[in-house]
Amino acid sequence: MSKVQKVAVVGAGLGGLNAAIALRQRGFEVAIYEQSDVLGEIGAGIQLSPNAMRVLMALGLDRAFEAVAFEPHRHVVRNWKTGSIVSATQMRGVFRPQYGAGYFGAHRADLHAVLQNALPAECVRLNARVISVTQTPDRAVLTFADGQTAESDIVVGADGIRSAVRESLFGPDAPRFTGHIVWRGLVPSEALPKGLIEPDMTAWFGPNGTMVHYYVRRGELVNWIAHFESDWRDESWRVESDWREAAAAYAGWHPTLATLFSHTERCYKWALYDREPLARWSQGRVTLLGDSAHPMLPYLAQGAAQAIEDGYVLADLLAAHRSDSVAALAAYEAARLPRTARIQRHARERGKINNTTSAFARFKRDLGYRLKRLIKPNEHTYKIEWIYGHDVTAPRSETSAAA
Ligand SMILES: Cc1cc2nc3c(=O)[nH]c(=O)nc-3n(C[C@H](O)[C@H](O)[C@H](O)COP(=O)(O)OP(=O)(O)OC[C@H]3O[C@@H](n4cnc5c(N)ncnc54)[C@H](O)[C@@H]3O)c2cc1C
Repeated sequence: MSKVQKVAVVGAGLGGLNAAIALRQRGFEVAIYEQSDVLGEIGAGIQLSPNAMRVLMALGLDRAFEAVAFEPHRHVVRNWKTGSIVSATQMRGVFRPQYGAGYFGAHRADLHAVLQNALPAECVRLNARVISVTQTPDRAVLTFADGQTAESDIVVGADGIRSAVRESLFGPDAPRFTGHIVWRGLVPSEALPKGLIEPDMTAWFGPNGTMVHYYVRRGELVNWIAHFESDWRDESWRVESDWREAAAAYAGWHPTLATLFSHTERCYKWALYDREPLARWSQGRVTLLGDSAHPMLPYLAQGAAQAIEDGYVLADLLAAHRSDSVAALAAYEAARLPRTARIQRHARERGKINNTTSAFARFKRDLGYRLKRLIKPNEHTYKIEWIYGHDVTAPRSETSAAA
Protein backbone atom coordinates (compact mmCIF):
# COMPACT_ATOMS: atom_id res chain seq x y z
CA MET A 1 0.00 0.00 0.00
CA SER A 2 1.39 3.44 -0.96
CA LYS A 3 2.19 6.08 1.64
CA VAL A 4 -0.60 8.47 2.61
CA GLN A 5 0.34 11.98 1.52
CA LYS A 6 -2.73 13.79 0.24
CA VAL A 7 -5.83 14.20 2.43
CA ALA A 8 -9.10 15.76 1.25
CA VAL A 9 -11.28 17.25 3.99
CA VAL A 10 -14.91 17.87 3.01
CA GLY A 11 -16.37 20.82 4.95
CA ALA A 12 -14.72 23.93 6.37
CA GLY A 13 -16.66 24.08 9.63
CA LEU A 14 -14.92 24.06 13.01
CA GLY A 15 -14.25 20.31 12.73
CA GLY A 16 -12.86 20.40 9.19
CA LEU A 17 -10.56 23.38 9.74
CA ASN A 18 -9.19 22.00 13.00
CA ALA A 19 -8.51 18.61 11.38
CA ALA A 20 -6.77 20.30 8.45
CA ILE A 21 -4.45 22.18 10.82
CA ALA A 22 -3.58 19.00 12.74
CA LEU A 23 -2.96 17.09 9.49
CA ARG A 24 -0.76 19.82 8.02
CA GLN A 25 1.29 19.93 11.22
CA ARG A 26 1.94 16.20 10.69
CA GLY A 27 3.23 16.89 7.20
CA PHE A 28 0.18 15.90 5.12
CA GLU A 29 -0.87 17.80 2.03
CA VAL A 30 -4.43 18.94 2.74
CA ALA A 31 -7.20 20.27 0.50
CA ILE A 32 -10.46 21.43 2.11
CA TYR A 33 -13.59 21.46 -0.04
CA GLU A 34 -16.41 23.72 1.18
CA GLN A 35 -19.81 24.08 -0.46
CA SER A 36 -20.37 27.72 0.60
CA ASP A 37 -19.02 30.66 -1.34
CA VAL A 38 -17.66 32.33 1.81
CA LEU A 39 -15.94 30.94 4.88
CA GLY A 40 -17.48 31.66 8.24
CA GLU A 41 -19.69 30.65 11.14
CA ILE A 42 -23.09 31.70 12.41
CA GLY A 43 -23.61 34.59 14.85
CA ALA A 44 -23.78 32.54 18.04
CA GLY A 45 -21.61 31.42 20.91
CA ILE A 46 -19.60 28.29 21.58
CA GLN A 47 -18.14 26.88 24.78
CA LEU A 48 -14.85 25.04 24.68
CA SER A 49 -14.14 22.74 27.59
CA PRO A 50 -10.61 21.75 28.75
CA ASN A 51 -10.53 18.57 26.62
CA ALA A 52 -10.87 20.72 23.47
CA MET A 53 -8.63 23.48 24.81
CA ARG A 54 -5.82 20.98 25.24
CA VAL A 55 -6.00 20.27 21.51
CA LEU A 56 -5.82 23.99 20.70
CA MET A 57 -2.79 24.16 23.02
CA ALA A 58 -1.10 21.25 21.24
CA LEU A 59 -1.75 22.93 17.88
CA GLY A 60 -0.38 26.25 19.17
CA LEU A 61 -3.71 28.06 18.83
CA ASP A 62 -4.71 28.56 22.46
CA ARG A 63 -3.26 32.05 22.86
CA ALA A 64 -4.92 33.42 19.75
CA PHE A 65 -8.21 31.86 20.85
CA GLU A 66 -8.03 33.00 24.47
CA ALA A 67 -7.35 36.56 23.28
CA VAL A 68 -10.82 36.69 21.70
CA ALA A 69 -12.70 34.48 24.17
CA PHE A 70 -13.98 34.86 27.74
CA GLU A 71 -13.13 32.61 30.68
CA PRO A 72 -16.20 32.24 32.90
CA HIS A 73 -15.63 32.14 36.63
CA ARG A 74 -18.09 29.41 37.54
CA HIS A 75 -20.53 26.92 36.08
CA VAL A 76 -23.77 27.81 37.82
CA VAL A 77 -27.17 26.11 37.79
CA ARG A 78 -30.08 28.34 38.78
CA ASN A 79 -33.70 27.68 39.59
CA TRP A 80 -35.86 28.79 36.67
CA LYS A 81 -38.35 30.76 38.78
CA THR A 82 -36.57 32.06 41.86
CA GLY A 83 -33.11 32.42 40.33
CA SER A 84 -31.58 30.82 43.43
CA ILE A 85 -28.27 29.03 42.89
CA VAL A 86 -28.76 25.27 42.94
CA SER A 87 -25.15 24.41 42.22
CA ALA A 88 -21.90 26.21 41.43
CA THR A 89 -18.62 24.73 40.20
CA GLN A 90 -15.58 27.00 40.25
CA MET A 91 -13.89 26.86 36.85
CA ARG A 92 -11.54 29.83 36.59
CA GLY A 93 -8.41 29.20 38.65
CA VAL A 94 -9.40 25.55 39.26
CA PHE A 95 -9.73 23.91 35.84
CA ARG A 96 -6.22 24.84 34.64
CA PRO A 97 -4.47 23.04 37.52
CA GLN A 98 -7.08 20.25 37.47
CA TYR A 99 -7.24 19.58 33.72
CA GLY A 100 -4.23 21.40 32.32
CA ALA A 101 -6.47 23.84 30.42
CA GLY A 102 -9.26 26.33 31.09
CA TYR A 103 -12.91 26.56 29.99
CA PHE A 104 -13.95 29.33 27.57
CA GLY A 105 -16.92 30.94 25.89
CA ALA A 106 -16.43 32.50 22.45
CA HIS A 107 -18.21 33.87 19.43
CA ARG A 108 -18.17 31.11 16.82
CA ALA A 109 -16.93 33.45 14.13
CA ASP A 110 -13.93 34.33 16.34
CA LEU A 111 -12.98 30.67 16.82
CA HIS A 112 -13.50 30.02 13.12
CA ALA A 113 -11.24 32.98 12.27
CA VAL A 114 -8.48 31.68 14.58
CA LEU A 115 -8.59 28.33 12.77
CA GLN A 116 -8.79 29.91 9.34
CA ASN A 117 -5.77 32.13 10.06
CA ALA A 118 -3.72 29.03 10.84
CA LEU A 119 -4.22 27.73 7.31
CA PRO A 120 -2.93 29.06 3.99
CA ALA A 121 -5.81 30.46 1.93
CA GLU A 122 -5.02 28.16 -1.00
CA CYS A 123 -5.80 25.16 1.21
CA VAL A 124 -9.55 25.87 0.99
CA ARG A 125 -11.61 25.52 -2.17
CA LEU A 126 -14.98 27.31 -1.93
CA ASN A 127 -18.11 26.62 -4.01
CA ALA A 128 -17.12 22.96 -3.95
CA ARG A 129 -20.18 20.92 -3.02
CA VAL A 130 -19.34 17.25 -2.83
CA ILE A 131 -22.08 14.93 -4.04
CA SER A 132 -20.33 11.58 -3.77
CA VAL A 133 -17.14 9.70 -2.95
CA THR A 134 -15.89 6.62 -4.78
CA GLN A 135 -12.75 4.55 -4.27
CA THR A 136 -10.25 2.62 -6.33
CA PRO A 137 -7.69 0.33 -4.65
CA ASP A 138 -5.23 3.21 -4.29
CA ARG A 139 -7.26 6.46 -4.51
CA ALA A 140 -10.41 8.12 -3.22
CA VAL A 141 -12.32 10.27 -5.70
CA LEU A 142 -14.64 13.15 -4.83
CA THR A 143 -17.29 14.23 -7.31
CA PHE A 144 -18.63 17.77 -7.05
CA ALA A 145 -22.02 19.22 -7.97
CA ASP A 146 -20.50 20.91 -11.06
CA GLY A 147 -19.25 17.55 -12.36
CA GLN A 148 -15.57 18.08 -11.51
CA THR A 149 -13.61 15.48 -9.57
CA ALA A 150 -10.62 15.47 -7.18
CA GLU A 151 -8.39 12.60 -6.09
CA SER A 152 -6.63 12.01 -2.79
CA ASP A 153 -5.20 9.22 -0.66
CA ILE A 154 -7.73 9.76 2.13
CA VAL A 155 -11.10 11.55 2.38
CA VAL A 156 -12.39 12.95 5.67
CA GLY A 157 -16.09 13.81 5.71
CA ALA A 158 -16.38 16.83 8.02
CA ASP A 159 -19.53 17.93 6.26
CA GLY A 160 -21.94 18.08 9.16
CA ILE A 161 -25.09 16.26 10.19
CA ARG A 162 -26.42 16.01 6.60
CA SER A 163 -23.10 14.64 5.36
CA ALA A 164 -22.87 13.66 1.69
CA VAL A 165 -19.74 11.64 2.48
CA ARG A 166 -21.61 9.67 5.11
CA GLU A 167 -24.40 8.96 2.62
CA SER A 168 -21.86 7.76 0.05
CA LEU A 169 -20.41 5.33 2.59
CA PHE A 170 -23.51 4.02 4.31
CA GLY A 171 -26.52 5.09 2.23
CA PRO A 172 -29.28 7.63 2.94
CA ASP A 173 -30.56 7.87 6.51
CA ALA A 174 -32.44 10.89 7.85
CA PRO A 175 -31.32 12.39 11.16
CA ARG A 176 -33.75 12.16 14.06
CA PHE A 177 -35.77 15.19 15.17
CA THR A 178 -35.23 15.26 18.93
CA GLY A 179 -38.32 17.24 19.99
CA HIS A 180 -36.00 20.01 21.18
CA ILE A 181 -35.53 23.44 19.65
CA VAL A 182 -33.40 26.43 20.56
CA TRP A 183 -33.56 30.17 20.13
CA ARG A 184 -30.16 31.83 20.12
CA GLY A 185 -29.22 35.47 20.52
CA LEU A 186 -26.31 37.80 21.22
CA VAL A 187 -26.63 40.92 23.35
CA PRO A 188 -24.07 43.76 23.67
CA SER A 189 -22.99 43.68 27.33
CA GLU A 190 -23.08 47.46 27.64
CA ALA A 191 -26.79 47.47 26.73
CA LEU A 192 -27.64 45.45 29.86
CA PRO A 193 -28.19 46.76 33.39
CA LYS A 194 -24.87 46.58 35.26
CA GLY A 195 -24.45 43.35 37.23
CA LEU A 196 -27.47 41.63 35.62
CA ILE A 197 -25.33 38.88 34.11
CA GLU A 198 -22.58 37.52 36.28
CA PRO A 199 -19.30 36.39 34.68
CA ASP A 200 -20.41 32.76 34.88
CA MET A 201 -21.52 30.03 32.52
CA THR A 202 -25.09 29.91 33.74
CA ALA A 203 -27.77 27.30 33.09
CA TRP A 204 -31.35 27.80 34.27
CA PHE A 205 -33.23 24.49 34.56
CA GLY A 206 -37.02 24.62 34.28
CA PRO A 207 -39.97 22.62 33.03
CA ASN A 208 -39.55 21.87 29.31
CA GLY A 209 -36.49 24.07 28.94
CA THR A 210 -32.92 25.02 29.78
CA MET A 211 -31.70 28.56 29.34
CA VAL A 212 -27.92 29.01 29.06
CA HIS A 213 -25.98 32.26 28.89
CA TYR A 214 -22.33 33.26 29.00
CA TYR A 215 -20.05 36.08 27.91
CA VAL A 216 -18.10 35.89 24.66
CA ARG A 217 -15.61 38.13 22.82
CA ARG A 218 -13.63 39.27 25.90
CA GLY A 219 -16.92 40.01 27.68
CA GLU A 220 -18.26 42.41 25.05
CA LEU A 221 -21.29 40.25 24.22
CA VAL A 222 -23.59 37.91 26.12
CA ASN A 223 -24.60 34.80 24.22
CA TRP A 224 -27.85 33.12 25.19
CA ILE A 225 -29.38 29.80 24.13
CA ALA A 226 -32.94 29.05 25.09
CA HIS A 227 -33.56 25.30 24.74
CA PHE A 228 -37.18 24.26 24.69
CA GLU A 229 -39.16 21.10 24.06
CA SER A 230 -41.40 21.68 21.08
CA ASP A 231 -42.57 19.97 17.91
CA TRP A 232 -41.62 22.93 15.69
CA ARG A 233 -39.40 21.94 12.81
CA ASP A 234 -38.38 23.59 9.62
CA GLU A 235 -36.71 22.21 6.51
CA SER A 236 -33.84 24.69 6.81
CA TRP A 237 -33.42 23.83 10.53
CA ARG A 238 -32.51 27.45 11.27
CA VAL A 239 -34.67 30.49 10.65
CA GLU A 240 -34.53 34.08 11.73
CA SER A 241 -36.87 34.51 14.65
CA ASP A 242 -37.92 37.18 17.14
CA TRP A 243 -36.75 37.28 20.75
CA ARG A 244 -40.41 37.78 21.72
CA GLU A 245 -41.09 34.18 20.72
CA ALA A 246 -38.42 32.95 23.15
CA ALA A 247 -39.71 35.35 25.80
CA ALA A 248 -43.25 33.96 25.36
CA ALA A 249 -42.01 30.36 25.75
CA TYR A 250 -40.14 31.42 28.90
CA ALA A 251 -43.06 33.38 30.41
CA GLY A 252 -43.10 32.83 34.18
CA TRP A 253 -39.33 32.27 34.37
CA HIS A 254 -37.09 34.64 36.34
CA PRO A 255 -37.29 38.32 35.16
CA THR A 256 -33.52 38.38 34.42
CA LEU A 257 -34.23 36.28 31.34
CA ALA A 258 -36.95 38.62 30.06
CA THR A 259 -34.48 41.53 30.37
CA LEU A 260 -31.82 39.58 28.52
CA PHE A 261 -34.20 38.57 25.72
CA SER A 262 -35.45 42.14 25.28
CA HIS A 263 -31.97 43.49 24.47
CA THR A 264 -31.38 41.01 21.65
CA GLU A 265 -30.81 42.48 18.23
CA ARG A 266 -31.00 39.32 16.14
CA CYS A 267 -32.46 36.01 17.15
CA TYR A 268 -32.39 32.64 15.39
CA LYS A 269 -34.47 29.56 15.94
CA TRP A 270 -33.27 25.99 15.35
CA ALA A 271 -34.82 22.57 15.39
CA LEU A 272 -32.37 20.12 16.99
CA TYR A 273 -31.56 16.82 15.32
CA ASP A 274 -29.22 14.00 16.28
CA ARG A 275 -28.59 10.39 15.29
CA GLU A 276 -28.15 7.08 16.96
CA PRO A 277 -24.42 6.35 17.31
CA LEU A 278 -23.14 4.78 14.10
CA ALA A 279 -21.73 1.24 14.05
CA ARG A 280 -18.88 2.37 11.75
CA TRP A 281 -17.36 5.62 10.51
CA SER A 282 -14.89 4.40 7.90
CA GLN A 283 -14.75 2.38 4.71
CA GLY A 284 -11.50 1.88 2.85
CA ARG A 285 -9.85 5.29 2.46
CA VAL A 286 -12.80 7.35 3.66
CA THR A 287 -13.84 8.33 7.16
CA LEU A 288 -16.03 10.78 9.05
CA LEU A 289 -15.43 13.40 11.70
CA GLY A 290 -17.51 15.79 13.86
CA ASP A 291 -21.26 16.10 13.29
CA SER A 292 -21.15 13.88 10.21
CA ALA A 293 -20.06 11.03 12.52
CA HIS A 294 -21.71 11.83 15.84
CA PRO A 295 -24.28 14.66 15.90
CA MET A 296 -25.47 15.25 19.44
CA LEU A 297 -27.80 17.45 21.44
CA PRO A 298 -26.06 20.56 22.81
CA TYR A 299 -26.83 19.96 26.52
CA LEU A 300 -23.21 19.02 27.29
CA ALA A 301 -21.68 21.56 24.86
CA GLN A 302 -19.50 18.85 23.33
CA GLY A 303 -20.29 18.67 19.58
CA ALA A 304 -17.47 20.92 18.42
CA ALA A 305 -15.20 19.80 21.27
CA GLN A 306 -15.50 16.20 20.08
CA ALA A 307 -14.92 17.26 16.46
CA ILE A 308 -11.74 18.99 17.65
CA GLU A 309 -10.62 15.85 19.51
CA ASP A 310 -11.42 13.75 16.39
CA GLY A 311 -9.19 15.85 14.14
CA TYR A 312 -6.22 15.61 16.45
CA VAL A 313 -6.51 11.84 16.89
CA LEU A 314 -7.02 11.27 13.17
CA ALA A 315 -3.89 13.25 12.27
CA ASP A 316 -1.92 11.49 14.97
CA LEU A 317 -2.93 8.01 13.82
CA LEU A 318 -2.53 8.71 10.12
CA ALA A 319 1.00 9.89 10.90
CA ALA A 320 1.61 6.74 12.93
CA HIS A 321 0.40 4.45 10.12
CA ARG A 322 1.46 6.36 7.01
CA SER A 323 1.89 3.20 4.96
CA ASP A 324 -1.38 1.59 5.99
CA SER A 325 -4.36 3.92 5.76
CA VAL A 326 -6.83 1.13 6.55
CA ALA A 327 -5.04 0.40 9.84
CA ALA A 328 -4.91 4.14 10.59
CA LEU A 329 -8.64 4.61 10.03
CA ALA A 330 -9.45 1.47 12.03
CA ALA A 331 -7.36 2.76 14.95
CA TYR A 332 -9.03 6.20 14.65
CA GLU A 333 -12.50 4.67 14.77
CA ALA A 334 -11.57 2.44 17.71
CA ALA A 335 -10.16 5.41 19.61
CA ARG A 336 -13.07 7.75 18.94
CA LEU A 337 -16.35 5.94 18.34
CA PRO A 338 -17.02 4.54 21.83
CA ARG A 339 -16.28 7.87 23.52
CA THR A 340 -18.40 9.97 21.19
CA ALA A 341 -21.28 7.45 21.30
CA ARG A 342 -21.24 7.66 25.09
CA ILE A 343 -21.34 11.45 24.94
CA GLN A 344 -24.20 11.37 22.40
CA ARG A 345 -26.24 9.28 24.85
CA HIS A 346 -25.31 11.41 27.85
CA ALA A 347 -26.29 14.60 26.01
CA ARG A 348 -29.80 13.21 25.46
CA GLU A 349 -30.01 12.13 29.08
CA ARG A 350 -28.81 15.54 30.27
CA GLY A 351 -31.63 17.21 28.31
CA LYS A 352 -34.20 15.01 30.06
CA ILE A 353 -32.75 15.73 33.49
CA ASN A 354 -32.58 19.49 32.89
CA ASN A 355 -36.04 19.90 31.40
CA THR A 356 -38.11 17.54 33.49
CA THR A 357 -41.70 18.68 34.02
CA SER A 358 -42.14 16.68 37.22
CA ALA A 359 -41.99 18.97 40.26
CA PHE A 360 -40.92 15.99 42.39
CA ALA A 361 -38.08 15.04 40.02
CA ARG A 362 -36.90 18.68 40.02
CA PHE A 363 -37.00 18.81 43.81
CA LYS A 364 -35.02 15.56 44.10
CA ARG A 365 -32.48 16.64 41.45
CA ASP A 366 -31.90 20.05 43.02
CA LEU A 367 -31.63 18.62 46.52
CA GLY A 368 -28.96 16.22 45.24
CA TYR A 369 -27.06 19.11 43.63
CA ARG A 370 -27.27 21.26 46.75
CA LEU A 371 -25.99 18.39 48.92
CA LYS A 372 -23.19 17.66 46.50
CA ARG A 373 -22.20 21.32 46.57
CA LEU A 374 -21.80 21.02 50.36
CA ILE A 375 -20.09 17.63 50.49
CA LYS A 376 -17.99 17.69 47.30
CA PRO A 377 -17.64 21.36 46.35
CA ASN A 378 -14.85 20.66 43.87
CA GLU A 379 -16.77 18.12 41.78
CA HIS A 380 -18.70 19.20 38.71
CA THR A 381 -22.47 19.07 39.09
CA TYR A 382 -22.81 16.97 35.93
CA LYS A 383 -20.19 14.32 36.84
CA ILE A 384 -18.35 15.01 33.60
CA GLU A 385 -14.77 14.76 34.72
CA TRP A 386 -14.48 11.81 32.28
CA ILE A 387 -15.21 14.23 29.43
CA TYR A 388 -13.08 17.19 30.53
CA GLY A 389 -10.22 15.07 31.84
CA HIS A 390 -9.69 13.10 28.61
CA ASP A 391 -6.45 14.16 26.95
CA VAL A 392 -6.15 13.16 23.30
CA THR A 393 -2.82 14.97 23.06
CA ALA A 394 -1.16 12.64 25.58
CA PRO A 395 1.26 10.12 24.01
CA ARG A 396 -0.65 7.21 22.53
CA SER A 397 0.71 3.68 22.25
CA GLU A 398 -0.14 3.57 18.50
CA THR A 399 2.03 6.61 17.81
CA SER A 400 5.12 4.68 18.88
CA ALA A 401 4.60 2.64 15.69
CA ALA A 402 5.18 5.74 13.57
CA ALA A 403 6.22 4.83 10.08
C1 LIG B 1 -27.61 25.28 19.88
C2 LIG B 1 -26.28 24.63 19.78
C3 LIG B 1 -25.29 24.96 20.68
C4 LIG B 1 -24.06 24.29 20.62
N1 LIG B 1 -23.10 24.62 21.53
C5 LIG B 1 -21.90 23.98 21.51
C6 LIG B 1 -20.89 24.31 22.46
O1 LIG B 1 -21.05 25.20 23.29
N2 LIG B 1 -19.73 23.60 22.42
C7 LIG B 1 -19.51 22.61 21.50
O2 LIG B 1 -18.43 21.99 21.54
N3 LIG B 1 -20.45 22.29 20.58
C8 LIG B 1 -21.63 22.95 20.56
N4 LIG B 1 -22.57 22.65 19.62
C9 LIG B 1 -22.28 21.64 18.60
C10 LIG B 1 -21.42 22.23 17.47
O3 LIG B 1 -22.01 23.40 16.97
C11 LIG B 1 -21.27 21.22 16.33
O4 LIG B 1 -21.03 19.95 16.85
C12 LIG B 1 -20.09 21.64 15.45
O5 LIG B 1 -20.26 22.92 14.95
C13 LIG B 1 -19.94 20.62 14.32
O6 LIG B 1 -18.88 21.01 13.50
P1 LIG B 1 -18.61 20.24 12.13
O7 LIG B 1 -17.43 20.94 11.54
O8 LIG B 1 -18.55 18.78 12.38
O9 LIG B 1 -19.91 20.47 11.25
P2 LIG B 1 -20.55 21.80 10.68
O10 LIG B 1 -20.33 22.94 11.59
O11 LIG B 1 -21.95 21.46 10.32
O12 LIG B 1 -19.71 22.10 9.37
C14 LIG B 1 -19.90 21.36 8.20
C15 LIG B 1 -19.31 22.15 7.03
O13 LIG B 1 -19.39 21.34 5.87
C16 LIG B 1 -19.95 22.08 4.80
N5 LIG B 1 -20.63 21.10 3.93
C17 LIG B 1 -21.77 20.42 4.19
N6 LIG B 1 -22.08 19.60 3.18
C18 LIG B 1 -21.09 19.75 2.26
C19 LIG B 1 -20.84 19.16 0.98
N7 LIG B 1 -21.67 18.23 0.48
N8 LIG B 1 -19.73 19.54 0.30
C20 LIG B 1 -18.86 20.47 0.80
N9 LIG B 1 -19.08 21.08 2.01
C21 LIG B 1 -20.16 20.71 2.72
C22 LIG B 1 -20.89 23.05 5.48
O14 LIG B 1 -21.17 24.17 4.64
C23 LIG B 1 -20.09 23.43 6.71
O15 LIG B 1 -19.19 24.47 6.47
C24 LIG B 1 -23.82 23.30 19.65
C25 LIG B 1 -24.81 22.98 18.71
C26 LIG B 1 -26.03 23.64 18.77
C27 LIG B 1 -27.09 23.29 17.77
